[in-house]
Amino acid sequence: MPKTVTAGLAELREDLAGFYRDLHEHPELSLQETRTAALLARRLREVGFDEVVEQVGGTGVVGVLRNGDGPVVMLRADFDALPVEERTGLPYASKARAVDADGTEVPVMHACGHDMHAVCLTGAATLLARSRERWSGTLLVVFQPAEELAVGARDMVEDGLFERFPVPQIVLGQHVGPLPAGFIGYGSGPVMAAADSLNITLHGRGGHGSRPEAAIDPVLMAAHVVTRLQGVVAREVSPAESAVVTVGRLHAGTKDNIIPDTAELGVNVRSFTPAVRDQVRTAIERVARAESAASGAERPPVLTWFASAPALVSDPEATGRTVAAFSEHFGAQRILPMPQVNASEDVGVFGDTLGVPTVFWFWGGLETEPTLAALGEGRIDDLPGNHSPLFAPVVEPTLSTGVEALVVAALTWLDEV
Ligand code: ZN
Ligand code: ZN
Repeated sequence: MPKTVTAGLAELREDLAGFYRDLHEHPELSLQETRTAALLARRLREVGFDEVVEQVGGTGVVGVLRNGDGPVVMLRADFDALPVEERTGLPYASKARAVDADGTEVPVMHACGHDMHAVCLTGAATLLARSRERWSGTLLVVFQPAEELAVGARDMVEDGLFERFPVPQIVLGQHVGPLPAGFIGYGSGPVMAAADSLNITLHGRGGHGSRPEAAIDPVLMAAHVVTRLQGVVAREVSPAESAVVTVGRLHAGTKDNIIPDTAELGVNVRSFTPAVRDQVRTAIERVARAESAASGAERPPVLTWFASAPALVSDPEATGRTVAAFSEHFGAQRILPMPQVNASEDVGVFGDTLGVPTVFWFWGGLETEPTLAALGEGRIDDLPGNHSPLFAPVVEPTLSTGVEALVVAALTWLDEV
């Protein structure tokens, strides 16, 4: 049955490719995706969605297609871009610049492929809307903003996504990445890490660089915190588990002969299970407080957690059923099992909120033959991946594969007529 539905792709392909190049050339930063949102909403209206609502959780767009009794199936795509200067040299490369939340002008690029995600979902929505006689149930199409800040999914849920619209029994989504175009990669269980960011402000007491006895040095304190944090994963987390603690930002002082008042650290944590996540977060807080105390600080450090996303779990049973449908549709040779990825995705927020399964897969965006060769030779990390200024999926067969995967996955969970 999916083949009869995806056959309609032939006549959409050119239009979708044009839409993709347009979005690629006009990327928008997280929380600023107004042009993209308007275009996505217009497309859903054009193909006959009963209900299309904009500005759900900021710039989110929701489309509902009610098509008789049956399950409610949610398809999700994100559509924000990144502050990256594009260097692909493509004719439709972005030259866009924008002002970020800090007021700084930055280059903007779809360096994570979310433009491809959004276009593939409009394609799948179109094909499913045009083949209504072949399935029954309700299709909930969710275009989620601000994935790169890990806030978009939460913002949509908090804006009443599941009170204002039909509640899905399953959440389906996909991410394009450095795999051969035309291929699908999947994992089962925890597939992407939980991400948590922490800002630490260490309080010392400033003074003259020549009189350390009259000061409490937050620079030394910060240095000890950075070093000591390396022991959290190495010495506290079981070697059978996986976690990452990175201090990506360290800032203190203005001049060599002044001991500053404070030091700031930005810490990023990745983990795959709630237990390890709690363990690592608790250990980091303990280290920051204890190093502060060890230095004789008069005030405890200020710890602020932000930008949290839960681990993304692709429900094993539901993933098995969906991947079986992919194998049947694409052929088993185009389906690749994948290891866990330490990157994060906030799509898990939707399923977690409702307690329903999420199925999430990856699909390839790099030129097929050279990428297959690189995979075989273990050189895949040499190729441009997500967030690289050189990362842009080849339009085909990436686009067709992404549309078909969404259609096949949706039809796996909707009722067949
Ligand atoms: Zn990204
Ligand atoms: Zn992404």
